[in-house]
Amino acid sequence: MERRRTRSRASSPRPRANPAAPPRDSLVARHVAALPRSGIREFFELVRAAGTGPDERGRRLISLAIGEPDFDAPWHVRENAIWSLERGRTGYSPNLGLLPLRAAIADHVAEETGVRYDPADEVLVTVGVSQGLDLALRALVEPGDEVVFHEPCYVSYAPSVALVHGRPVAVPTTPARGFALDPDDVARACTPRTRVLLLNFPCNPTGAVLDDRTADALARLACERDLAVVADEIYAELTFDEPGRSILSRPGMRERTVLLRGFSKSFAMTGFRVGYACAPRHLIDALNRIHQYAMLCAPAPAQEAALEALRHGRAGRLAMRDQYRLRRNFVTRSLAELGLPCVRPAGAFYAFPSIAGTGLSSREFAARLLREQRVAVVPGDAFGPSGEGHVRCAFAASLPLLEEAMDRLRLFLAGLRRGRRR
Ligand code: PMP
Repeated sequence: MERRRTRSRASSPRPRANPAAPPRDSLVARHVAALPRSGIREFFELVRAAGTGPDERGRRLISLAIGEPDFDAPWHVRENAIWSLERGRTGYSPNLGLLPLRAAIADHVAEETGVRYDPADEVLVTVGVSQGLDLALRALVEPGDEVVFHEPCYVSYAPSVALVHGRPVAVPTTPARGFALDPDDVARACTPRTRVLLLNFPCNPTGAVLDDRTADALARLACERDLAVVADEIYAELTFDEPGRSILSRPGMRERTVLLRGFSKSFAMTGFRVGYACAPRHLIDALNRIHQYAMLCAPAPAQEAALEALRHGRAGRLAMRDQYRLRRNFVTRSLAELGLPCVRPAGAFYAFPSIAGTGLSSREFAARLLREQRVAVVPGDAFGPSGEGHVRCAFAASLPLLEEAMDRLRLFLAGLRRGRRR
């Protein structure tokens, strides 16, 4: 039976291969096979191989590599998730998310940015900002469209654009300008195919925030060129010197911006996987068209936890931010004393010092620091070619650990200098 069916299929005319398409050498779609491996993941494999246990000198690994708060989610948030499970709230939520959570998000965003969204149809709860980013790009980008973003940048930007068949266009930023994005550089990078300006302030990995003049100029440019703006503001609540600016509050921006924020960083809730998108209703409708098929909804108990975080988590959130500020001050002071130039991060929880003076590439620097002193930092080229010559040190670790890490860094640099003199 089986054989006969096979034979009859074989005798039917075979679909002709598209002669223009290059041959495919595996079952995997070519644009997926072409995705580069994340530089962070590659480095984490080195870290895993190094192990966390004590070395022959009794020193444990100190990781400044992971972009994740070292705080546990506040207890009242965890308790609320448990409580919602106990009450049997284990089903789907509406596609857009629980309405009380959307209402709390709209209030929070209005308080932070001065821009109000309607919880009924202008707020979408997502599975982390990661899903919000994916939805926004899928909803806005057609094959061949260009997405302009600043670099060094979060590792997922170029791959996420490639996955929607868009063209990633990175605009380098430099320490000489404090890693600020120069609107003239953005204007030069734009072509008639440019559809989206993707911004991430406060920035991972540089800690740069948006200043008023840049925000105004970028907003004007977005209006002139009729660009959509995707504002990844996942670190918005983590600014240390003055409240960060959001491009959203500039004239003309509410109509063309998809605002992405979440709970992972500022509320220390990475594992809950809750973020949100706010945008005019026709844009949220577009994101939700994809979301309804691709994800249905964010996990309901995690949404309950996020609602608790917004309702009662303000003091805890500010206390964590104050800790990060103390650590930021300590790390930037230490790096300056060690002779590693570092733009003072005004937000997020990363320092991005230059290690160019050591003569090592960022990968060599990170690999040797790991091997010789058991301190993990991320090589800057993981964040794009313009990150080369830097390393990312997350200060999402306690002050005593940071002190120990900076002591070991001092020893490492002294060893390098001795090696050079020999
Ligand atoms: N955007 C940026 C800039 C990030 O740094 C991260 C996490 N490292 C994300 C998005 C994704 O965060 P989430 O946990 O909300 O998916």
